[in-house]
Amino acid sequence: MTAQTPSPLSRPFVSLIGAGPGDPGLLTLRGAEALRQADVVLFDYLANPELLRHCPDAETIYVGKKGFSDYISQEQINALIVDKAREGGGKRVARLKGGDVFVFGRGGEEAEACAHAGIGFEVVPGVTSAIAAPAYAGIPVTHREAARSFAVLTGNTKEGGAHYERLSGVDTLVLLMGVRNLDQISTDLIKAGRDPQTPAATVQWGTTPRQRVATGTLATIAGAVREAGLEAPAVTVVGEVARLRDTLRWFDAVPEHHRPLAGRTVAVTRTRDGASALADLVRARGAGVLEVPLIRFAETGNEAALHARLRDLTGVAWLLLTSNQAVTALFTHLRRLGLDARHLAGLRIAAVGPSTARTLAEHGLHADFVPSTPGARHLAAELPAQPGAVTLHLTSQVAEDELERGLTARGVRYERAELYRTEPATLDGGALARLRAADVVTLASGSAARHLAALAGTDLTVAAMGPQTADAAREAGFSRVTVAREATLEALADAAAQAVLHRDGAPSPGR
Ligand code: SAH
Repeated sequence: MTAQTPSPLSRPFVSLIGAGPGDPGLLTLRGAEALRQADVVLFDYLANPELLRHCPDAETIYVGKKGFSDYISQEQINALIVDKAREGGGKRVARLKGGDVFVFGRGGEEAEACAHAGIGFEVVPGVTSAIAAPAYAGIPVTHREAARSFAVLTGNTKEGGAHYERLSGVDTLVLLMGVRNLDQISTDLIKAGRDPQTPAATVQWGTTPRQRVATGTLATIAGAVREAGLEAPAVTVVGEVARLRDTLRWFDAVPEHHRPLAGRTVAVTRTRDGASALADLVRARGAGVLEVPLIRFAETGNEAALHARLRDLTGVAWLLLTSNQAVTALFTHLRRLGLDARHLAGLRIAAVGPSTARTLAEHGLHADFVPSTPGARHLAAELPAQPGAVTLHLTSQVAEDELERGLTARGVRYERAELYRTEPATLDGGALARLRAADVVTLASGSAARHLAALAGTDLTVAAMGPQTADAAREAGFSRVTVAREATLEALADAAAQAVLHRDGAPSPGR
């Protein structure tokens, strides 16, 4: 919902944000906040697109130099940042860059472009792959016994040759952008005096489900990388610390068969608010996750009527709240009316499930009633209201009738007020392309299937929560449908893995 108080944040303004090395959990809190505040987001090949869920309403522009036929030069990117910041009287631009902003990747030049244009900017440092990729491979860049110093260098020999002899006193070397030139680089390092037996490791796509590692010595690492087929993006660590992987390996130590979705992308759709527990289950199976909201929240169509209803709640015994969004919107409207939680004193409040109850608690209100099993049906059956008591359901225009039917059948009076609206989400071109590139899309309900078909077409592999959802998906036009063996999120995550196996023609896992 766009119902925030007007932002005091200045425009134009540019946030140069380090996206971290790939694991979406490694974005900083300030980075996430700056994304939320952005009107426009420019992101890179190396910045995980999963992070765009922090800015669902922003315009997103892919300016990566990989994967698109049009090569975008650094000068064009600099100009685009400035143009976007100035657009329409001033915008907040988030420039999301892989790793850290100022570790290679030319963040300094983008900051200079802002400075020269007189546009305010901030720098949000990120977790650099130079340290994080080795860490996820079980290699600390320093260690009291093995290394007291480290240096990060570019292996891109175009950018003005190496001076390896100057680095002779440095214990650990971390090479970025050097996989292609690894033969040459290791030869040069040995020539400059490094022991050919120095342990070395190369980490590709570090911190992501696609992480792969090759190990060897300075003399053998280039061959090992070739043999394993590792390519960019990768970092190579040279130094005694590389040996520690033998004991400290953790992230990629999980056996392959526990990670059936390793290297895959699963699009997780949702038609409700709240965090997606399914995303975590899918991640645990090794996949990268693309969260796709299929609906968005909008203002109620009749604020005057809503405010009249909220202003005078005399006679109402119970408020019924059946989503997190309802709680959020309720407080937005109380604020607009110049009221706060005290206005609800004397009313009893029911939440449809623990998640809604938690959101209430965040606003300082304790739910008087939560049904034993989440859901409108249970709420209707179990609400401790007397016949004749008035309940007020604050909800969206698409509320299902279950609650009303259940309560009226018990003689409880049911009234509904439209607090917000839900509308089909829209996706910009980039988001749509990412969705279509996902290996499988999960559907938790029939309405999700219909929304997805309308949004992205039906040429997608989908995993459905149960037979009803699967039927709805086929009716909506999807032909590659895998059904979860039971209606749980665990089973849906397994179904996603199965869907990918089937599609790739691999033998069925025989479960
Ligand atoms: N600013 C970035 C580096 C940009 S230069 C940072 O701080 O991480 C691009 C190089 O970074 C790639 O060629 C590769 O060497 C390295 N890199 C970025 N992400 C990586 C990842 N997830 N795994 C391994 N190397 C990565």
